[in-house]
Amino acid sequence: MPQARSPMDILKLFDKSNCRQCNEPTCLAFAAAVFKGRKPISDCPRVDKELAEAFGGQPVEQPRTSEQEIEAFMHRLQEKISGVDLAAAADRLGAKYENGRLTLKVLGKNVSVDADGKLYSDIHTNPWIAVPILTYIIDGAGKPPSGQLVPFRELKNGGPGYGLFRQRCEKPLKKIADTDIELFTNLLDIFNARPTEHLDADIARVMHPLPRVPMMICYWKAEEGFDSNLQLYFDKVADENLNVQSINAMGAGIARMFEKLAEKHGLPQSEAERQRA
Ligand code: SF4
Repeated sequence: MPQARSPMDILKLFDKSNCRQCNEPTCLAFAAAVFKGRKPISDCPRVDKELAEAFGGQPVEQPRTSEQEIEAFMHRLQEKISGVDLAAAADRLGAKYENGRLTLKVLGKNVSVDADGKLYSDIHTNPWIAVPILTYIIDGAGKPPSGQLVPFRELKNGGPGYGLFRQRCEKPLKKIADTDIELFTNLLDIFNARPTEHLDADIARVMHPLPRVPMMICYWKAEEGFDSNLQLYFDKVADENLNVQSINAMGAGIARMFEKLAEKHGLPQSEAERQRA
């Protein structure tokens, strides 16, 4: 399969007429979209057919890192949003619709989405949070929570993705709690996580990353002979409102938001953050 090192390598394949049949303003913009994996090369009707077939109608270069992958996925979801009736989706999902935007509560704060899939909010959103929000709007069933909470791995199809979830979400959150429990509690307050009780957990809070997708966060301090622990729980029907991959991304997004705020308050960057910087 041909490989491109930059959008300019792809640009060479087009006639540079800027005819806009690919729905991009210029051939260069389309070349950049193909390079980033947002569009298949076959979207250009003027490109040589054999060449398009050689690329299998797929993006020229697949995203190389999980950050690029999630960004490309977010762009695909933004394109899908244009086909969604946002007013009807708001009714279904416990959200509001006004002036062409659907507004829902994410961690207690308003986040609005327009027909282009653009997000507007006072909170800093990242693609890891944008993906679950857009997926919830496109596919969410709007099912009321059952009230029964289970760990991620007990969600339908949660088992295979649990290792990644633990790595991207539970471990970074546990590290913040281990390092500065007061700061961790303050961050939970910032995101409107309300206290609850769960077994013998030292901290048990319920937060709402999405209106019908509650999440309980439990932390146990280290005790003689036992390491500390942090575990997240979701409603048993959460995967009907948000698929498990998006719940996984949501967990990673929340962990990143906590890490960013913790860093602002003087906590050293985690190894994962240093690698992403
Ligand atoms: S359809 Fe092809 S030729 Fe036309 S603007 Fe897009 S890339 Fe350029």
